[in-house]
Amino acid sequence: MIRLNDVTLTFPDGDARVTAVDRVSLTAHPGTVTGITGPSGSGKSSLLAVAGTLLRPDSGEIMIDGHDITALSRADATQLRRDRIGIVFQQSNLIPSLTAREQLRVMNELGASRSRRRRAAAGDRADELLAAVGLAEHGHKRPHQLSGGQRQRVNIARALMNDPSVLLVDEPTSALDQERGAEIIDLILKLTDERDTSTLLVTHDLVHLPRMHGVLHLVDGRVVDAAVPVR
Ligand code: ADP
Ligand code: MG
Repeated sequence: MIRLNDVTLTFPDGDARVTAVDRVSLTAHPGTVTGITGPSGSGKSSLLAVAGTLLRPDSGEIMIDGHDITALSRADATQLRRDRIGIVFQQSNLIPSLTAREQLRVMNELGASRSRRRRAAAGDRADELLAAVGLAEHGHKRPHQLSGGQRQRVNIARALMNDPSVLLVDEPTSALDQERGAEIIDLILKLTDERDTSTLLVTHDLVHLPRMHGVLHLVDGRVVDAAVPVR
């Protein structure tokens, strides 16, 4: 579970500062997808960055599975991110020279001990996840041999490699047509349910919002409208 309490993030802007996230609070429970929407520049990506420990907020509290991540050292935050958070960035950042299967397996090599048993387990997990995102037959392909939607599926599978409790996804449909986009949203809903992640999903595509468990609408970094289930 992830809970943000009164989180503010500012960036330097000349002599002043711009407030990208303005006193945002939210709670996302396991097995649910919370949609985050709002116009360009409203702070959606900034909100995901603080939720994912990539940026430290100016103030406020961010609790992940009971840990306040704003109180952690940089090293501990990195460790927590690796263990508990899966992130799908707005720009695909697949490595051109690696196959789909290798993109997933490399997640296991980062900072981890590389016993043979772990490597074998990582291979099995990569195959299982590629199957879960509909790419069982495509694990040997490199990014340029995959369609945009297939690449997005690899990004999602990769984010799930370390079995995160929080899944953060930024505009996963922006480069896809309507039908391919809807399939990606379906997949994120399905995986959230199956793997019990607390998922935050940024999208400016309003057609997808009714299928989510809760929605936050941001304007200028502030929550202006929230439809969040009572649980
Ligand atoms: P969105 O994802 O909704 O388009 P962002 O979170 O990217 O919005 O941006 C929110 C605000 O923060 C904007 O005013 C943007 O210009 C500013 N911003 C985002 N990242 C930075 C940065 N690294 N440095 C300075 N300003 C930034
Ligand atoms: Mg953005």
